[in-house]
Amino acid sequence: MPSPRRTRAYPELERVLIAESAIRRRVRSLGREIMTAYGDEPITVIAIINGAILFTADLLREIDNPVRLDCIRISSYRNNTKSSGRPRVIQALTLDIKDRHVLLLDDILDTGRTLSVVSKLIRKKRPASLRVCVLLDKKGRREVPFDADYVGFSIPNKFVVGYGLDFAERYRNLPCIGVLKPERQVLG
Ligand code: 5GP
Ligand code: MG
Repeated sequence: MPSPRRTRAYPELERVLIAESAIRRRVRSLGREIMTAYGDEPITVIAIINGAILFTADLLREIDNPVRLDCIRISSYRNNTKSSGRPRVIQALTLDIKDRHVLLLDDILDTGRTLSVVSKLIRKKRPASLRVCVLLDKKGRREVPFDADYVGFSIPNKFVVGYGLDFAERYRNLPCIGVLKPERQVLG
């Protein structure tokens, strides 16, 4: 017999910013927006891992177009809530994206540095087009100008975890997005 979905309290969170059900609804509508924009065209999705893993997995299932998936790994935040400067590519793309319609996915647009570096790198490979979709956008935090084509939610300037977003590699598996309690923001 199927067991009911367990309900879960989040003792690690100061507050839930975006509930699981709201994420599900928004991801579904992002999928529809994206399908409308691309028509019947095949899409090459590039996910910035690890943060975009859960978002990518859910969004791809809302898109009916033929899809190819590649991942790129970037290091920028190192085990804390502060940026460590210039993002570096630590795992490169493997698919050929020349003349392909590329949809770049990330969990969150913050200073804009990561997506600006990755977009430049993709453009150098001469895709047919490049669009960017992020689940979250902290507009007030930009250090370099960058706008995404599709944004799931605009959020305030708070360090958030859950649904792929981590603190020191933890909390990615929370099904909602929330603000971590200050006492949990310690390493170890
Ligand atoms: P940016 O280069 O735009 O400053 O930052 C992008 C990356 O920083 C995101 O892909 C994400 O990994 C990380 N990041 C930015 N803000 C947050 C946040 O509030 N929580 C978490 N967990 N990661 C964040
Ligand atoms: Mg990230």
